[in-house]
Amino acid sequence: RPGLIGRLRNGLKRTGSGIGLVFMGRKYIDADLLEELETLLLTADVGMEATNRIIGDLTDRLKRNKLDDISALHQALRENMMAILEPVAQPLEVNRDKKPMVILTVGINGAGKTTTIGKLAEQYRNEGRRVVLAAGDTFRAAAVEQLQAWGERTGTPVISQPTGSDAASVVYDAHQAAIARGADVLIADTAGRLHTQSNLMDELRKIRRVLGKQDETAPHEVLLVLDAGTGQNALAQAEQFREAVDVTGLALTKLDGTAKGGVIFAMAQRFGIPVRFIGIGEGVDDLRPFDAEAFVDALLD
Ligand code: GDP
Repeated sequence: RPGLIGRLRNGLKRTGSGIGLVFMGRKYIDADLLEELETLLLTADVGMEATNRIIGDLTDRLKRNKLDDISALHQALRENMMAILEPVAQPLEVNRDKKPMVILTVGINGAGKTTTIGKLAEQYRNEGRRVVLAAGDTFRAAAVEQLQAWGERTGTPVISQPTGSDAASVVYDAHQAAIARGADVLIADTAGRLHTQSNLMDELRKIRRVLGKQDETAPHEVLLVLDAGTGQNALAQAEQFREAVDVTGLALTKLDGTAKGGVIFAMAQRFGIPVRFIGIGEGVDDLRPFDAEAFVDALLD
């Protein structure tokens, strides 16, 4: 299996929008180059703000004769990209002082929430941590079953109640169980139904409040899971969830199969929310801490 960079590169170049392609076969910086680069950035869903920032800086450097050749431009582009991504590349540290550390995951259906929870549970378990999962999506029976399947696969207890139960009460129970068992990490799943958005946001706020009852510092992380393949749509989702619950970290999934991975730049430029993880496949080991340098290399090389 190809490594992270290879897979990201394949994904990001899927529809020919690999940004590094702009340099291929070019010896000199001609007038078209920056325009072409601008188009490539926008096509990869880097977004207007981040694209303008990058192109603006490159144009400026060109005018001041600071860019002599293609390799200098390549380097300057790399610096610009790193300047946007480095501040948000903040892996999620497990807080050992909290028993348990509580991770509340939110995001719309299909974003990859359950899969991300499963992968995380597996990673923590491999590190020797005790994990409890809360089946907080009480709206869909399939969601509970899917979480239970991950629980079985990773040997992690899943606290659930029948479909239709109060989500906050499930999460409260799970928190209590996690405390009683001396668990290191509690990861709570939540519903992600789109059409009744306002109810969902109320439900999430209630879950948030309920977690604070047994530990006033909980949740310690509100992880928003977004499908990177939805491009600019992911920005709109981030906006909504940010308003309802104080999102403290992002997991961007499906970067293995999208040409819109540039949305990470748009997200970083607009919100500055730490990017904790990226998903690069469906397998249990396909969740990685976000590494800005590896990501930029995959885009440019
Ligand atoms: P949820 O509704 O948010 O819980 O989403 P799921 O976890 O059920 O994921 C929806 C689909 O996306 C499933 O088929 C997953 O296997 C798939 N998926 C999740 N993360 C990734 C990823 O990083 N890469 C790929 N290729 N597929 C993913």
